[in-house]
Amino acid sequence: MPDLDRIVQDIAAEMRARPDRGAVASYIPELARVDAQGFGLAVIDGDGRIAAGGDADTPFSIQSISKVFTLTLALGMVGDRLWRRVGREPSGSPFNSIVQLERENGIPRNPFINAGAIAVTDVILSGHQPREALGEILRFMQFVAQDDSITIDERVAASEKRTGFRNAALANYMRSFDVIENPVDYTLGVYFHHCAIAMTCRQLATAGLFLAYSGHHPLAGHSVISGERARRINAIMLTCGHYDGSGDFAYRVGLPGKSGVGGGILAVAPGKASICVWSPGLDAAGNSHLGRIALEMLVKRTGWSIFGV
Ligand code: GLU
Repeated sequence: MPDLDRIVQDIAAEMRARPDRGAVASYIPELARVDAQGFGLAVIDGDGRIAAGGDADTPFSIQSISKVFTLTLALGMVGDRLWRRVGREPSGSPFNSIVQLERENGIPRNPFINAGAIAVTDVILSGHQPREALGEILRFMQFVAQDDSITIDERVAASEKRTGFRNAALANYMRSFDVIENPVDYTLGVYFHHCAIAMTCRQLATAGLFLAYSGHHPLAGHSVISGERARRINAIMLTCGHYDGSGDFAYRVGLPGKSGVGGGILAVAPGKASICVWSPGLDAAGNSHLGRIALEMLVKRTGWSIFGV
C-alpha cells in the first residue's frame, strides 16, 4: 500500500508553490471572485482511511461534478430509458456547445456536457415540484458524502441564473424537440442550483466512494447502485468527464474523473480509492489546471491508473 499521507502532503506542497495556476472561471461572476491560490486534495479508501492536504476542508462550488450524481439519480428513476434522451459518446466539443445539438436533433451527446446534464435534470424534475427535485438531489449528496451539513450556495446559483443565457438557449432548443418536458425555467432553476452545491474535497471524495467500490458505499454500509451501473458511470466519466479534454485526461491520468468549472475534479480508482482535488484555475478546456497535474502525480506514485503502472 503506498504511503498516501506522504504522497498527498508532497503533492500539496508542490502545488502550493507553482506559479502556473490557470484562470478562474469568469463567465459566472460569483466564481470569478474565488482566490486562484487555493489547492486541496483528499484521498479516501474503502476502510474510511483518508489522506488530506492543503485546503481539503475548504468548500468550493462543485459545478459539473454534480452531474455524476444527477446521472446516478436519473438512472435510478428511469433506468436505460434515459438513453433515449441523451447519448453516451464523447462530444469533442466545448462544454456549452450549441452547434452540435442542432446537428443531432436536440439529443445531447452525453450526460456531462451542459445540454446533456440539463436533460438529465429534467428527467429528475418530471412529476415533481422544482423544490422537491432539488431536495432529492441535495439529500442524495448529503447521504453519499455522509454529511448533512452540505448546502447550496445561493449566491452562486443566482449569479449563474442571471448570466446563464447559453444554458437557456440549449434548454429552449431541446424543449423544441421535447427532449425537455418541463417548463424551461423550472429545469434550469434546478440545474443551476445543483451546480451551486458547495462541498469540500473531503466531502466529495467520500461521496465518490460508491463508484470506486462497485456501487457499494463502504461508510454507509450498503449498496447505492448495482456494480454494473457503477462500472458504466465510471466508463462515461472516463470518456466524457472532461469535455473536449477527456482524451488528454485519460492519457495523462488514466482514471474515470469528472471536472467542474469551480476547479474541482472527482476521480475514481476502482477498488483502491476515491479522490477529490480542487484548484480553481482552469485550462483552456475548462478543467482544473493544477488539479489535473496533481492527479497525474498521484497516479504516478500510486500506480493506480486503470491502464497499468
Ligand atoms: N454550471 C456550469 C454551467 O452550466 C457548469 C459547467 C461546468 O462546471 O463545467 O455553465
